[in-house]
Amino acid sequence: MYKIKAEPLSNDVIIDITQQLRKILGCGLDTPLNIVAILEYAMPQLDKNFNYSIKDKDNMRFDVHAYTDPQTNEIVIREDIYDRARHGEGRDRFTIAHEIGHYILHNNNMVALTRVFPDEKIKPYEDIEWQADAFAGELLCPSSAITNMTVEKIANYYGVSLQAANAQKRKSLRCSQSKDC
Ligand SMILES: [Zn+2]
Repeated sequence: MYKIKAEPLSNDVIIDITQQLRKILGCGLDTPLNIVAILEYAMPQLDKNFNYSIKDKDNMRFDVHAYTDPQTNEIVIREDIYDRARHGEGRDRFTIAHEIGHYILHNNNMVALTRVFPDEKIKPYEDIEWQADAFAGELLCPSSAITNMTVEKIANYYGVSLQAANAQKRKSLRCSQSKDC
């Protein structure tokens, strides 16, 4: 399996991009986001070429929850994922935030993508999946706002899974101790 290598984006840069996006949306770092509304209303305003579609399971490969198509400027989401995200399910909200991350970080030739061979080591910062996950975690629950919250509180308040809350909490502790997180 190929991995896609992208221009390196550090945590700092990703944090900065998500904070800029929150600012544009008029949401402080302590505001839980309605990621479905961002997909449906904010993204088309930010980029007039943006579009999204919901596909039923029969029209998606069985293991694909969502994807971003740079050719058509489209985010495609499987219907059940979309429905659960609308009902606040953390895992599915994260999936949509992850795709918005791909769209913002990896679309419009903003990043030169190169195919690499399986035995070539990719550093996390160069892996587009790592970047989109970092973007999603940071957009949904900003690490700088959660230092004093428990993992359960983070998950409930920001509407993310315990796993994502835990990852963000660890990042927040790392970042509060050193500038280079
Ligand atoms: Zn992805």
